[in-house]
Amino acid sequence: MPLNDWLGVDLGGTWLRWGGASSGRLRLEDRSPEAILDHLITVSEGRGVAVSFAGWLCPEGRRVMQGPNLGWVDVPFVEMAAARGLNCHLENDLDARAWGEYMALETREPRSLIALNAGSGFALGLVVQGQLVRGFHHRAGEVGHLVLGPADRRCGCGDLGCAETLLGGAQNPPDRFDDPSQRQAWLDLAARIVAPVVAALDPHHVVGVGGILAHRPDLLRDLEQEIKGLLPRRWFDDFSLRVSVGESLALAGVVDLARHSEALRNGN
Ligand SMILES: [Zn+2]
Repeated sequence: MPLNDWLGVDLGGTWLRWGGASSGRLRLEDRSPEAILDHLITVSEGRGVAVSFAGWLCPEGRRVMQGPNLGWVDVPFVEMAAARGLNCHLENDLDARAWGEYMALETREPRSLIALNAGSGFALGLVVQGQLVRGFHHRAGEVGHLVLGPADRRCGCGDLGCAETLLGGAQNPPDRFDDPSQRQAWLDLAARIVAPVVAALDPHHVVGVGGILAHRPDLLRDLEQEIKGLLPRRWFDDFSLRVSVGESLALAGVVDLARHSEALRNGN
C-alpha cells in the first residue's frame, strides 16, 4: 500500500491551522468534533490529516480522552474521521513539537531532547535516544500536573492543586514577571520540576517553547541557572537551555509521526 500524503494540522482552542503548500487557518466558531471534521475534510483535499492538538489521547492514540481547549471528553475522533472517509492521525501538540524540534537537529546520531513548554500549560516533550516517548498512558512529560500547587485551585485537567495552576500562562501574564518575588517563585517551582527530568535523562538538548518564554526571553538564562543549581555540579557544567520559536515545527513533526505510524501499520 502506498504511503498517504499527509496534511499537518494544528487544532487549537480558537484556530485551526494547516501547513503545506496550501497553508492557512480558520477561526473555530463551532468546536464540536463533527464541525471540525467537516473543516478537515474540506482542507485535506483527499489527503490524510495529521492533527496536533492540546490534550490527552487514549493509549492507542485513537480517542481524545480530554481536550480542555475544545471542551472534549472521550471523543473517538479517529473512528469518526474514518466513518467520513478521512484518514486521521492524532498527536499531543507538545509531542508533535518535540519531534519537530528533534527533526530540525538533522542529527545522524540518536540523541535526547527535552522540549520544555511554558505556555498556557507547563509540560515536557521527550525524545530519548531518537525515540519520541509518549508513555503508557500517553502522558509522559506531563509534569505540570504534579500536585505542587495550591490545594484549592482547580486546574484545566479537572484536578485540584496542579503545579500548572502556578506556572501556566493564565496565571502569568508577561508583566507578572516584573515583580521580583513572583518571578523568583515561578523560576523556583519550574526548576524544581524540570531538574529531576534533566538528571534522569541527561539530554543533549533542552529547548524552551511556548508563550511565556517567547514573551519573556529574559527568563531563559535565569531558568537555566536555577535548573543548573539543582543538578549535580560536576556533570552538568555545560547544561544550557535555548528557546525555539519554530511554531511550524509541530506541523512538520506531526506529519512525520503520521508517516512513521502508517509505515508501522503497513509493516514497512
Ligand atoms: Zn492538572
